[in-house]
Amino acid sequence: MFVVMARTASEAEILGVKSHILAEGMTPFDHEGSERTVIAVVGEVGPRKQELMSRLSGLPGVEQVTPISRPFKLTSREFHPEDTVIRVLDAVIGDGGLTMMAGPCSVETRDQLMETADAVAAAGATILRGGAFKPRTSPYSFQGLGVEALRYLAEARDRTGLPVITEVMEPNQVDIIAEYADIVQIGTRNMQNYSLLNAVGRVARPVMLKRGYGATIEEWLMAAEYIVSSGNPNVILCERGIRTFETATRNTFDISAIPVVKKLSHLPIIADPSHGAGRRDMVAPMARAAVAAGADGLIIEVHNDPDHALSDGAQSMFPSQFDRLMAELRIIAPAIGRSICLEAVARR
Ligand code: PEP
Ligand code: MN
Repeated sequence: MFVVMARTASEAEILGVKSHILAEGMTPFDHEGSERTVIAVVGEVGPRKQELMSRLSGLPGVEQVTPISRPFKLTSREFHPEDTVIRVLDAVIGDGGLTMMAGPCSVETRDQLMETADAVAAAGATILRGGAFKPRTSPYSFQGLGVEALRYLAEARDRTGLPVITEVMEPNQVDIIAEYADIVQIGTRNMQNYSLLNAVGRVARPVMLKRGYGATIEEWLMAAEYIVSSGNPNVILCERGIRTFETATRNTFDISAIPVVKKLSHLPIIADPSHGAGRRDMVAPMARAAVAAGADGLIIEVHNDPDHALSDGAQSMFPSQFDRLMAELRIIAPAIGRSICLEAVARR
């Protein structure tokens, strides 16, 4: 349930409601909107619901108490009507601009990362991606350089000025990754790894949560709810394609998830057409479509030598292709009222 405070409610009245909720063994989360404060009551309320609702309705400063049927609460638009805006160094996600994350699937060598980082930065990317710990379907595939890759990513950030995003696979990696990276990524295979979700909920870094390839949008938002309810409000959702009966593409890129999420949630959504399509020639059309559908940004795999990449080479763009895509997006984005964040470019 949500407790909607009156416009005129005082600090003391808001505090009074929160103490009441705590005394009931529930957790209050308040959101101070531009007009009024809304307090979400989170926890298992059980059969006491009606009684608790009427008790909270009678407290000073309360305008109304509304039950919510949706299972996700803190990530819902009802609780937080304005878009969540996340800032990392010079990059902004969710402010109406288009955030461009790009880089290799995996960090393979220092030279490979620096060369690719320079190319995507020059093309206008605002965030650098690169996997250090890789979740591979086969145990015999390249598993990532680990901490060595984190050091290269930090060096690439110093060199280009771009904040870096990299994947975390286990709760015990969260601290070391947060030490080097600006955004931590949860991959599709871990979307419902609840101990990992709770662990990133306690870290002072934004988290990009990829949609599980077999997850519904509601399950995805519930996974985001774990992170936010553990204390981290800075969650970015990422649509990366789902598994369907279709085999022509690696996954089925669910573009309709973008407007659905925009309606249900205040969290920003990034689209990943690289994993969605799985084929280099399909990445640009899917990227253009995702932007037109309202995505807050894209994450694109780019490699300086994709034909020799150690992971996801078939879907990795050549730097020149990424450069062309950026030029196309500079036309599409303004046509739908978005700009491409150029702060990082202007600073160089
Ligand atoms: C990746 O970003 O390289 C990755 C492994 O993505 P996903 O979890 O979407 O497969
Ligand atoms: Mn990849």
